[in-house]
Amino acid sequence: MSDSKYVYSFGGGTAEGRTDMKNLLGGKGANLAEMANLGIPVPAGFTITTEVCTYYYEHDQTYPAQLEADVMAALKKVEEIMGTRFGDAENPLLVSVRSGARSSMPGMMETVLNVGLCSKTIPGLIAKTGNGRFVYDAYRRLIMMYSDVVMEKAAGIEPAEGQGIRQQLDRMLSEVKKSKGYASDADLSEDDLKVLVERFKKRVHEVLGTEFPDDAVEQLWGGIGAVFGSWNGRRAVSYRRIEGIPDEWGTAVNVQSMVFGNMGDTSATGVAFTRNPATGDNRFYGEWLPNAQGEDVVAGIRTPNPLNEDTKNDQNEHLPSLQTAMADVYTQLAGIRDRLEQHYADMQDIEFTIQEGRLWMLQTRVGKRTGTAALNMAMDMLAEKMIDGRAAVLRVKPSQLDELLHPVVDPAAEKTTKALAKGLPAGPGGASGQVVFNADDAVAWTKAGKTVILVREETNPEDVEGMRAAVGILTGRGGMTSHAALVARGWGKCCIVGAGALDIDVVAKTIKVDGQQINEGDILTLNGTRGLVYAGELPMIDATENPRFVDFMKLADDIRVMKVRTNADSPDDARTAIEFGAEGIGLFRTEHMFYGIGSEQPLFILRKMIMSGSEAERRAALDELFPFVKKDIKATLEVMSGRPVTIRLLDPPLHEFVPNRSEERARLAKALGIDLDELNRRADDLHEANPMMGHRGVRLGVTFPEITEMQIRAILESAAELTKEGKKVLPEIMVPVVGMKAELDNQLKIAKKVYDEVCKAQGVDAVEHLYGTMIEIPRAALTAGEIAKTAQFFSFGTNDLTQMTFGFSRDDIGGFMPDYLDRKVIPADPFQILDRDSVGELVKLGIERGRATRPGLKVGICGEHGGEPSSVEFCHMVGMDYVSCSPFRVPIARLAAAHAQINHPRG
Ligand code: PEP
Ligand code: MG
Repeated sequence: MSDSKYVYSFGGGTAEGRTDMKNLLGGKGANLAEMANLGIPVPAGFTITTEVCTYYYEHDQTYPAQLEADVMAALKKVEEIMGTRFGDAENPLLVSVRSGARSSMPGMMETVLNVGLCSKTIPGLIAKTGNGRFVYDAYRRLIMMYSDVVMEKAAGIEPAEGQGIRQQLDRMLSEVKKSKGYASDADLSEDDLKVLVERFKKRVHEVLGTEFPDDAVEQLWGGIGAVFGSWNGRRAVSYRRIEGIPDEWGTAVNVQSMVFGNMGDTSATGVAFTRNPATGDNRFYGEWLPNAQGEDVVAGIRTPNPLNEDTKNDQNEHLPSLQTAMADVYTQLAGIRDRLEQHYADMQDIEFTIQEGRLWMLQTRVGKRTGTAALNMAMDMLAEKMIDGRAAVLRVKPSQLDELLHPVVDPAAEKTTKALAKGLPAGPGGASGQVVFNADDAVAWTKAGKTVILVREETNPEDVEGMRAAVGILTGRGGMTSHAALVARGWGKCCIVGAGALDIDVVAKTIKVDGQQINEGDILTLNGTRGLVYAGELPMIDATENPRFVDFMKLADDIRVMKVRTNADSPDDARTAIEFGAEGIGLFRTEHMFYGIGSEQPLFILRKMIMSGSEAERRAALDELFPFVKKDIKATLEVMSGRPVTIRLLDPPLHEFVPNRSEERARLAKALGIDLDELNRRADDLHEANPMMGHRGVRLGVTFPEITEMQIRAILESAAELTKEGKKVLPEIMVPVVGMKAELDNQLKIAKKVYDEVCKAQGVDAVEHLYGTMIEIPRAALTAGEIAKTAQFFSFGTNDLTQMTFGFSRDDIGGFMPDYLDRKVIPADPFQILDRDSVGELVKLGIERGRATRPGLKVGICGEHGGEPSSVEFCHMVGMDYVSCSPFRVPIARLAAAHAQINHPRG
């Protein structure tokens, strides 16, 4: 242990770390090191590694023995580079203490600025800067942040709502401003601040029971401990769960010398993106505030100024740009933008501070972006030859496509509707929902099946779960880089920030605007792409075809080796799926023609068939049903024009179709020529205690061969007729819920008999088709070698396979899955993300055994996992020929399959 390196220094044109050391140094630390190595001006500092965080949690929240000496040695280096000393009375060094995980978690962990200010160092700093007001302002900020982050949160104190120390101090600050008639913090004089800091310290002592520490080194360790502690804070934990970031990663801590953007009019602070993160536009885009510290921009407390003239918008066109206010610094910053983009070959999200005319870079990282921006940037950078086609494909996450295909507010409706307010377009697409005013309500209402828009004055990281639950987010304050904007953009969620015309009162739960009042539960519509807020519900339309999307998907299609099919049960679904790029149907669920629009008549006949008392009755009903079944199958085969169509024989337990309403039962009894008592008796006979494992799937076909016969006849006749019409068709007959080869053989006999009859009746020699099975029962996977003697293809039904592997009822997990996830009993819902360790093992084994018997065995998946990126990757890795998913997920699966091929190449 003792020879581990726990602390890495940077600054003065060199660094011990590099950008590829993110796992150890966190994203921020690794990139600060990289910038220092590139000779970009970075305030000197050091990074305490993520290993220390892991150690800290494994050792009862203590540090490795050598850490103290290492930190002090690194601090000494910083002192040498900056020419100042930490805790020194004459020439004091102040530092910031910040978190920095491997992947960015915006606003989820703690930061303390101005560490090192105490009664010993204050006079020295005043003498040095000649600016007492500035020093006391920095000190009051330190007290506010430190008491909140270190003395309250890290100490595990949970104050009552509104009684947090930070809120109390904020109120004290507001009171002073109000009593003096000041409009902004900047109006506070040195004397005001001097009085205020004393009152702050007194309040801190009263509320938290300890003195505010008056020693620089004690403050430093307090800050370090609070950052490590914040890794396990409530909001960081919930963010990690949503983003799938492992708890073991830990955070690094960056200690860096302070530079000040609040030293007067030649000082400033800002954040910028090297390209527009909402649209992908190749223009330098950002926000800045003169005479301010970094938190002021990100916290959304003041509406920030635009970075340059080029990117001004309706909200900020009257405000000064950095380009005009500080032309030289802007030119230097624009040069750094180009260097960083070229170096990282990706869009960067940067933070900077200007101290008395001198530019310092505080952060660079790969910027979060909307799906639209990701796509546009990838295609631009490819054209600019900054990246190659494979890199371009990897730049868009499969889940981001979802957002590209998202609905937007119908522009025609927008033309005729007056917007309530305009804010900044922070997250794309459109959303309508009922207004709620806090995160807890957003979660609760959503759980209750409602669709909500979360409205806040500004969001803070505590709101993250509510933001996730809501379909849209609306805030009254904040800029494009505020917390709400960053988080929403990362998720591709519709979001509008800084809609200043709205008078939002989250306590009274009202929004007032232009003499109107919106209450909790009222409906709003957001156009997150344009920043417009409307009262009531406006219609949505699908995002128009983006020609770059087509080019991008072509790149992905050229790379992937797995085919992508769709689960579709009607000619209409099939047509939609083809538009999304489906290459076949992996699952046509026959029973779906008995649900929904136009199903009344076939459903009635099906019910007659189910309630039949003899084979003769049943056959009569099946004859009546036949034309309906054939019509849908034939039309779907025709739409798919030669692409494979897997048609599954009837799967669900029959009693699912038995009517409950007495008038329906009476009508059915009449049609069957029996009395109601007899019908009720037959219905009772069909009742099962555990229908999911009851008389369903192939078991129905074994008991009632005539049901199988009718369906196979419909399939083969359709195929023969279409072929005779000169059309190409490729049906695949699929038997569900098979556990034994003998079941499949039993049904094959029926299929063969029907096949001969159809060929004869249609006057054809052959009808091209395949005969195969679903693998959705563990026994089928285990005996796949036997089953493949009969089956020409396998389609893994991972919904049922997951149900039976876990013994979790598909229909009843709602009762316990949230607890399993919350208590980390399970890392993810296995019905959403295929569990590689168990279900995945069965799939792998099934494929191996199946192909050992029949080397060319065609294998796919048709469970819900077929459209989920991580599961698609797994299907690729185990050698499946295709995945099949719902039409809207087809593009996601295509891209996920391309990513899988790049990351795990397969021949
Ligand atoms: C499955 O079990 O994975 C499957 C696709 O079938 P169903 O969802 O219809 O049971
Ligand atoms: Mg199934």
